[in-house]
Amino acid sequence: MPLFLDDHLIESFSRYGLEVLYSIQKELADKLVTPTIAFSAIKKWVLPHCDQLAKDLIEQLSQPGWLDLYEMYLKIDYSTTSDETREMAEIIELIVTFSKLPPRKVSPRQSLDTTYYLITCEDRGKNINQIRYTENGLDVFKFCKYCWRHPVPGRYICAHHSAHSSDYLASYRIKQLFDCYTFEKSSLETFEFLDGTNHYPYFLPANGIYNWLLKRRPHLADRLQSGVLPLNDKNIVSSLLEMLQPTHEYHWSTLEACKEVNERILRHPDLIWPMLIRAEAWFELREQINNNWGGGKARGKQTQTHHLLPPVHLA
Ligand SMILES: [Zn+2]
Repeated sequence: MPLFLDDHLIESFSRYGLEVLYSIQKELADKLVTPTIAFSAIKKWVLPHCDQLAKDLIEQLSQPGWLDLYEMYLKIDYSTTSDETREMAEIIELIVTFSKLPPRKVSPRQSLDTTYYLITCEDRGKNINQIRYTENGLDVFKFCKYCWRHPVPGRYICAHHSAHSSDYLASYRIKQLFDCYTFEKSSLETFEFLDGTNHYPYFLPANGIYNWLLKRRPHLADRLQSGVLPLNDKNIVSSLLEMLQPTHEYHWSTLEACKEVNERILRHPDLIWPMLIRAEAWFELREQINNNWGGGKARGKQTQTHHLLPPVHLA
């Protein structure tokens, strides 16, 4: 059995979606599914049901690995407006994930919020992938798994969230919520942009950045107001970096990396988008948690439903 699918995974599929799945199931029945075998089944059974954009994405791939196939699923899923194609994207994900037991866990090269941003940039002809690396090869889109800061070189967490810091435990406890917030915010904004349902600029504008922040990143705009640097278009990116990644606060082990990343962003302000959405999600979540904690007590509520987490004091 090449695809280990529980019924609940496919119960929402349409009749033709199920037919495609069963055809793939039959074709792969006696095989050890490698990425090459999976890709050839995708081209044979999935591609004919896709819209032109998805067909182009599939045909552009050559000798893909599991990660390439997974990223292709993400790209198709978040750029198509066709239900049939979206269902085909889901089939690609099912093949990647459930063609082995236990299911294969594939993580995109960067966080999902960044992945959506990159897809949108690609869609609009912005070559963001070519400018995201510093002269020394540091990836501006590499983030601490708990926040928006650049991680300590060779690690997945920033100096702020090292295991010895007071914030580590609190961040560890709310990581799942943080991931949900960033996922929801970035997918919603990307969907709205691609569907044309929100006409407010998606990308950081060249002019009127503070007004853009007020609309798109209100928590950051609010915090900037109390800062000391001016809020004009010329200085605002530097003010944001000064607030979110102030190099004077960094441990020596990560100081040079953060300086390099900040300089890169100053030179190419488009690169700050993923950092801003992660920081905005974080401050929004923190406000939500603190309100629930304090608000519940103030109103003298008996229920403990919203009191699972203590107030968070980060950043
Ligand atoms: Zn961090």
